[in-house]
Amino acid sequence: MRHKIKGIVVREQPKGETSKLLTVLATGLGVITVNAKGVRKISSPYLKSAQQFAFSDMLLYEKNGFYTLTEAALIADFYSIREDIKNYSLACYLCEAATCFTVPGEEAGSILRLLLNSLYAIEKGISPRAVIKAGFELRLCAECGYMPETDSCVNCGDPLEGKPILFDALHGVASCRSCQTADSVNMLLSPSVGKAIAHITESELSRFISFRIGEDEQLQLGKAAERFMLACAERGFKTLSFYKHCEELP
Ligand SMILES: [Zn+2]
Repeated sequence: MRHKIKGIVVREQPKGETSKLLTVLATGLGVITVNAKGVRKISSPYLKSAQQFAFSDMLLYEKNGFYTLTEAALIADFYSIREDIKNYSLACYLCEAATCFTVPGEEAGSILRLLLNSLYAIEKGISPRAVIKAGFELRLCAECGYMPETDSCVNCGDPLEGKPILFDALHGVASCRSCQTADSVNMLLSPSVGKAIAHITESELSRFISFRIGEDEQLQLGKAAERFMLACAERGFKTLSFYKHCEELP
């Protein structure tokens, strides 16, 4: 059976002398493993499409659930991301997170678009890495049905717009300061961070990180997004530790 898809290589592993096994996030198929024969040869016409972060039109041949690459036409390679270790480590983390949240056999179109927009933002330096990371984490959760609620207090129902909020990152809900209890483990977020969370999760996908906040707010947003995302994923990510390690480098 043949499949014509658009897909991004989220992971590559060498196979044999000249081939690769690619993990591809593909329209219509979700995350699949693709056998790419001969793509490590310099003469291979699909050399560029068979690299991590490459986004291509692909023609796949499927037999018994195994996919083989038969043709590829590169759309974007995001190659320059790998020239900066900090950008590279963030891109690897976004790829692993996207893979984790993709259900096998499902459409995955919105996750694919989110990943493409985020890699583009990293490559072009459109926003600080911390904002891209937080935006990706929150939007990924939202696209997968885990929508954080920061509009009103989960306890008394008061609207929270323009107010500092207490964010429960484990459950993705917020409360007002009057409802704070002594044993509260919630994170205190400034009004602009609450607004940023709403923007990230509710705006058009093409504009999900088009907002500006100060450095303190970026830190708050970053912690809230990461905790919420890890709670939704119910697992940790090796590439997240790698990213953090790289961010500490001079
Ligand atoms: Zn309240």
